[in-house]
Amino acid sequence: MTAFEREQKRELKTILEKAADFHGHFGPFLVIGVRMGLIGIRRLEAKKYDGKLRVTAMLEHSVPFSCAIDGIQVTTKCTIGNKKLKLIDSSGIAAKFELQHKGQVTVMVNPVAFNRLKRRLLSENVPPEKMEKLARMVASMPEEELFIIE
Ligand SMILES: [Zn+2]
Repeated sequence: MTAFEREQKRELKTILEKAADFHGHFGPFLVIGVRMGLIGIRRLEAKKYDGKLRVTAMLEHSVPFSCAIDGIQVTTKCTIGNKKLKLIDSSGIAAKFELQHKGQVTVMVNPVAFNRLKRRLLSENVPPEKMEKLARMVASMPEEELFIIE
C-alpha cells in the first residue's frame, strides 16, 4: 500500500465515523455515499467543503438506497438544507458533482456490484451486525470494482 492509499484509508475511516453518527447507523449505502462524495471532491480537485460545489444525486428514494444521500451530504456539505444538493428519483445509484470553473464528474455505482448488493440485502432478513459487516466490505472494495466514473 502506498502512502497515498494509507492516507486515503485513514480519511475514509474518520469520515465514516462522522457519517454513521449523523445518519444514526452504519450501513453499506451510507458507505457508498461517502465514497462517492470523496471521489467527486478528489476528481474535481475541490477544496474541502468548497462553497461552489453542487451535487445531483440520482437514486431510488427508499431505504436503504437513500442512505447514500447522507453519505454524500456529510462528505460534500452539499445538503438539502443549503440547496446545494438536488435529488432525482432513479434506479441505480449515481451522483453528478459540479464545480464552477472546474467542470463536472459523474460517479455511478457499477450495476453489477449494485445488483449483487441489492440481492444480498433483499433476499435475507439482514440483522444489524450483518449490515455492518456488509458496510465494512463495501468500504474496502476497490474503487474500480465498485464505481464507474465519467
Ligand atoms: Zn441507512
